[in-house]
Amino acid sequence: MSRKTLNISDELYDYILSVSLRESEVQQQLREATRELPVGGMQISPEQGQFMGLLVQLIGAVRTLEVGVFTGYSSLSVALALPDEGHVVACDVSEEWTSIGKRYWQEAGVAHKIDLRLGPALDTLDQLLQAGQEGTYDFAFIDADKTNYSHYYERILQLLRPGGVIAVDNVLWGGSVIEHDKQDEDTVAIRAFNQQVYQDDRVHLSLIPIGDGLTLLRKK
Ligand code: CA
Repeated sequence: MSRKTLNISDELYDYILSVSLRESEVQQQLREATRELPVGGMQISPEQGQFMGLLVQLIGAVRTLEVGVFTGYSSLSVALALPDEGHVVACDVSEEWTSIGKRYWQEAGVAHKIDLRLGPALDTLDQLLQAGQEGTYDFAFIDADKTNYSHYYERILQLLRPGGVIAVDNVLWGGSVIEHDKQDEDTVAIRAFNQQVYQDDRVHLSLIPIGDGLTLLRKK
């Protein structure tokens, strides 16, 4: 009987990918192009992208949100999993990074599903709420500035339908969450966010130790 998650050695990780990763050529090209950037470490892992694609299909998502696009690998993974009428409202502040993603979204034939909104995501989410879209989204991915996580969460929870799912990235923050000498504002914000959602009766949750930690929250 297993009492906790296995430690994943490099060899075991390679094995996991060898028997489960089904990455398209365009996804692979985007991932490799991003890896060469100085900030390439911000990219999600390919098995996490695939997991989110599967999740979107499991809940039959059509309308989705993304806060923090970076170079677009997660948007691409979700868009590929969505039906043709599905879409991603993708929020980011960086024209530089998202312009990389745009090229690959085009190449993968999913650009029509991704509605990129450049600007502070809190403003975009507020605009969606003001436009009467409360309760109309099926899925959301939060992976942007950590100090705003709780604000993104509160707005997205309003935008989701009951049964909708939020996936939140980097909730283990490289293990810093349990290192008491780490008191920088990102680490403190992630600890506070983890406690906040743990206490929140409006959602069911599970923290999945994939990538840098991914919390799934289902709106009741
Ligand atoms: Ca991330």
